[in-house]
Amino acid sequence: MRVGCPKEIKNNEYRVGLTPGAVREYAAHGHDVLVESGAGAGIGADDKAYQAAGATIIKLAEEVFARADMIVKVKEPQPAEWVQLHEGQILYTYLHLAPDPAQTRGLLDSGVTAVAYETVTDERGGLPLLAPMSEVAGRLSIQAGATALQKANGGRGVLLGGVPGVSPGKVTVIGGGVVGMHAARMAIGLGADVTIIDRSLARLRYLDELFTDRIHTRYATTDAVEEECFTADVAIGAVLIPGAAAPKLVSREMLSGMRKGSVLVDVAIDQGGCFETSRPTTHAEPTYVVDGIIHYCVANMPGAVPITSAHALNNATLHYGLELADKGLKALEDEPHLRNGLNVHKGRITNRAVAESLGYEM
Ligand code: NAD
Repeated sequence: MRVGCPKEIKNNEYRVGLTPGAVREYAAHGHDVLVESGAGAGIGADDKAYQAAGATIIKLAEEVFARADMIVKVKEPQPAEWVQLHEGQILYTYLHLAPDPAQTRGLLDSGVTAVAYETVTDERGGLPLLAPMSEVAGRLSIQAGATALQKANGGRGVLLGGVPGVSPGKVTVIGGGVVGMHAARMAIGLGADVTIIDRSLARLRYLDELFTDRIHTRYATTDAVEEECFTADVAIGAVLIPGAAAPKLVSREMLSGMRKGSVLVDVAIDQGGCFETSRPTTHAEPTYVVDGIIHYCVANMPGAVPITSAHALNNATLHYGLELADKGLKALEDEPHLRNGLNVHKGRITNRAVAESLGYEM
């Protein structure tokens, strides 16, 4: 199969659908890989690295789209890209169609077969192609919180790890899923005093066993959220109710009980945020202050570390990418979890949740 990897054109997107390492695997499976010149610039991989891995470098994105049987990307196709997709072609990327009727129309009209990373499942009911970005965001959230906490950045001026003779800072993690677990791991590593709040007792038991005596766990009641936020230096919002907007767990009123200069990092901002006062921010201007509390609400946190993120993403997407390239549409028949990723085929929406939320017939 001819596998194409165009350069990402979404604003501030530096990741790439195929790393040179992934290209080498596709090439080893006998596929021709067409990579747009400069596609890997954001992760420090130049055209030579792709050529060494077995890719053919193509000057124009248009040619990649025209010649490839399968397109591998990171972000949902932009309007200039929809029109280049064509019938019989497979698109393998993040799509997030539910809130995006215009893109949905574009994909339906193109006739492309679109497999969305975010709806591919695994045997435990997880979303394995979404998880690596949660791992990155969770780990990054502590760096972001620790930086915002510094005095010159408007924070309280607390070092999360403390020093001998001075208590460490306190980190409260609300939601102990993938983001929360990785945030906790980093906070523990820095030597902070860490509490995880979750509404799943089974999850709290698991985290308690995993981190032994390095964390405290609290069942998610309003009392627990209040107590743990009022004493926190950094609070991380990491809850998720799949398919729904994030519940608002910290109200504006609660901010008055928090310590001035403490930091809220709302990782769940891509689902609307779990703090009432959250609004999406960008890497260019990541924080703002409400009632003396610093808010960090960057909606695409992994974009800050594209090298790590692109490799983490490729690790997760490679297996099914190769299946699609090796078997074409038959891979979707053979692999039920991959089939759950199929969102658009032959001008129809094929994912029930996406169809329902956009008001389409299946
Ligand atoms: P997850 O499903 O692994 O974990 C969510 C956890 O929240 C679960 O343990 C669940 O029990 C818990 N939870 C749900 N409702 C709760 C409540 N009311 N109180 C306490 N706990 C509650 O999800 P995840 O992968 O960790 O993702 C968390 C959020 O981070 C999602 O909104 C995800 O989209 C977002 N995210 C954002 C970025 C970013 O760049 N901002 C990147 C990756 C993920």
